[in-house]
Amino acid sequence: SSAMKKRKIAVLGSRSVGKSSLVKQFIENHFMDSYYPTIESTFAKSVVYKGVEYDCHIIDTAGQDEFSPINSQYAIGIHGYVLVYSITSRNSFNMIQVVHDKIVDFCGLTKIPCVIVGSKSDLSMQRQVDSKDGEKLAKDNDCAWIESSAKNNVNVGKVFELCLQEIERNISPNQTE
Ligand code: GDP
Repeated sequence: SSAMKKRKIAVLGSRSVGKSSLVKQFIENHFMDSYYPTIESTFAKSVVYKGVEYDCHIIDTAGQDEFSPINSQYAIGIHGYVLVYSITSRNSFNMIQVVHDKIVDFCGLTKIPCVIVGSKSDLSMQRQVDSKDGEKLAKDNDCAWIESSAKNNVNVGKVFELCLQEIERNISPNQTE
């Protein structure tokens, strides 16, 4: 069939790590310095990955913290996850494992298709999380990992490509849509 494959992707992580900026840069190709907290918005974009066109629905969430780690709604009907921390915030990095484990728990799975993203890579002077710590966290959870900058448009497309890669890696051959 010529119908595009629909992929729902949820973007999660602590508040103000740059989730909305990442999604905005990906969808609209621009960056804004002003800070508008998001409630929740969904954006659609078709993405060609390895010759296949995907109809991606990207859910930008309000953000999670230690008191409200994740809403169970993000366990249902989501194909893949983008888990974002800021390289300038150790706390936001520590939240990734918490959020990851909650999703796994809600989904009743041992593994979820996911890419862990170290955002704001342009702010290297304020770095609190080493690249190797990010890499290790991803390896321990069998996830992809990348650092990106929404401000300088570095690795933004790559984040969503890696998410599609992780989704395809997890879909069984008889599950074609
Ligand atoms: P969210 O709450 O996780 O959606 O975070 P936002 O996207 O609203 O970003 C929070 C703040 O970080 C805003 O002031 C952004 O301008 C800033 N920010 C986001 N991404 C980057 C980035 O890649 N580099 C820099 N220097 N600042 C960023």
